[in-house]
Amino acid sequence: MSTDTSLDWQIATVTSVHDESPRVKSFRFDLPKENYLSAGQYFDVRLTAPDGYQTRRSYSITSSPESRKSIELAIELIAGGEVSSYFHEVVQPGDKIEVQGPIGGYFTWDPSQTEPILLIAGGTGIAPLVSMLRHRQSSPTKAPTVLMVSARTEPDLLFRKELQLMEEEDLNFDSIVTLTRKMPKNWLIENVRENRRIDLKMIETAINRLGESPSSAYVCGGTGFVESIGNHLLEIGMAYTDILTERFGP
Ligand SMILES: Cc1cc2nc3c(=O)[nH]c(=O)nc-3n(C[C@H](O)[C@H](O)[C@H](O)COP(=O)(O)OP(=O)(O)OC[C@H]3O[C@@H](n4cnc5c(N)ncnc54)[C@H](O)[C@@H]3O)c2cc1C
Repeated sequence: MSTDTSLDWQIATVTSVHDESPRVKSFRFDLPKENYLSAGQYFDVRLTAPDGYQTRRSYSITSSPESRKSIELAIELIAGGEVSSYFHEVVQPGDKIEVQGPIGGYFTWDPSQTEPILLIAGGTGIAPLVSMLRHRQSSPTKAPTVLMVSARTEPDLLFRKELQLMEEEDLNFDSIVTLTRKMPKNWLIENVRENRRIDLKMIETAINRLGESPSSAYVCGGTGFVESIGNHLLEIGMAYTDILTERFGP
């Protein structure tokens, strides 16, 4: 019999819902019990229809793992998506939702790891990485960190203000942002141009900003994004075992 209580379903209460971007909303949940969380983990949510039909999906925790009885999830509205549409169109503060977690032990980071790291996100793939950054921010030890983010357009950039503030306050943290569709003309980011995807050159720029080779890279986003970035990281000589990946979907 399993004693892992993270496998039990808990009834969480939605305490707030807010827009992160035109297509992403953050949902905060109060959990009925304390949970020991690691940055990078996720929860499963389960919806049950009146006829008994059930469906479940995974969502990464964006909040810092220090908060044990409350978690935040950032959910992107997928056109025709069964669960993301329900969250965007129906879920309100006060609603009760079944959740299971925390899940995942491989794609996690803890501030006791002080070696330099590269965090690379495509779209909502920033979700588990922002949890790592929030955890890092509240820790006295600050691993040298560069975050690379690829989003479609400027309004699709998630947590931008918070990340800019972190960057201003912390000399050991830097970020590189690229937009695949439209880059504002006044952006003066080294080596970043309009309609540019994260490529080898941009990764080399990130490593220069890190000042030394990353001990590990955390890559999260859609499958195509993760595969392409993974190949670039292998090309620059990173070991397969130092490239940690999380895939959100197609
Ligand atoms: C470990 C893990 C963590 C995840 N964390 C997050 C998170 O933090 N935030 C988040 O928004 N999503 C996250 N996801 C994706 C999430 O679990 C769902 O797959 C997503 O919300 C779509 O579910 P849906 O029911 O709305 O769409 P579905 O009804 O399952 O699919 C509808 C259509 O959309 C396509 N589709 C499914 N998922 C995606 C996608 N991600 N992008 C584009 N098209 C898609 C399907 O192929 C299908 O054609 C995570 C997935 C995993 C495995």
